[in-house]
Amino acid sequence: MAKYIVLLGPPGAGKGTQADLIAEKFELQHVSTGDLFRENLKKMTDLGKLAQTFMSKGELVPDDVTIAMVRERLNRTDCKKGALLDGFPRTPSQADALADMLSEFKSKVNLVPYIFVPAEALIERLSGRWTCKTGGHVFHEKYNPPRMPGVCDLDGSELYQRDDDKAETVKNRIKVYNEQTTPLIEYYRSRNLLVEVDGTKSIDDVSKELISLVEKA
Ligand code: ADP
Ligand code: ADP
Repeated sequence: MAKYIVLLGPPGAGKGTQADLIAEKFELQHVSTGDLFRENLKKMTDLGKLAQTFMSKGELVPDDVTIAMVRERLNRTDCKKGALLDGFPRTPSQADALADMLSEFKSKVNLVPYIFVPAEALIERLSGRWTCKTGGHVFHEKYNPPRMPGVCDLDGSELYQRDDDKAETVKNRIKVYNEQTTPLIEYYRSRNLLVEVDGTKSIDDVSKELISLVEKA
């Protein structure tokens, strides 16, 4: 049966890094709503242009368009074996919509690792983050430097610093996370799906823990 895993945690917790490290091992698709919005913006679609008006301020893109985009993505054949969801859901109504979508596939969310990292560490992580232009792979100038500065180890694309990783916007993203996304901690805890993972450990240690959780799920 397909497996759906929701990686929950604040901006900069390491969701994208971990999803890239473990998706292949479990034949799961890494579905990142932030990456999907950025791909749309690169292609200058209406969705991309709309999303950008929210992303540039660190606000959430409205639920209806976000949910429709995820529905379309999860319906593609490459998600047949399941997905590692990174950055979705971010509100209780997105979580309800996800449960409805998956029940249409006779499936459900199997596990929600909640990667926690204190707010002080997030600013440093995001201000040192370098993102790959093609595949959305992420590096950190201090904690996970690419072999060659400015070049993605995985696909050779150029690395750039996201506009919304500036300290000003990051502060608002953390505020938005605290107000709108943290209710999901209780949402999934009350459904016995939440497992807390200490995201302050090294990238390798966090992946080992996640791999063992996914194997058991
Ligand atoms: P998220 O997807 O949750 O926003 P990322 O995976 O993009 O987070 O990670 C944010 C930044 O922190 C990146 O620059 C990444 O290289 C770095 N990072 C990720 N995990 C760790 C970790 N365990 N320790 C130190 N830095 C990390
Ligand atoms: P991070 O990896 O740092 O958590 P993301 O790449 O996931 O950041 O998200 C970047 C921006 O994209 C968010 O600040 C928000 O504007 C938008 N976004 C991403 N996912 C969602 C979502 N599920 N609902 C609404 N907006 C979203």
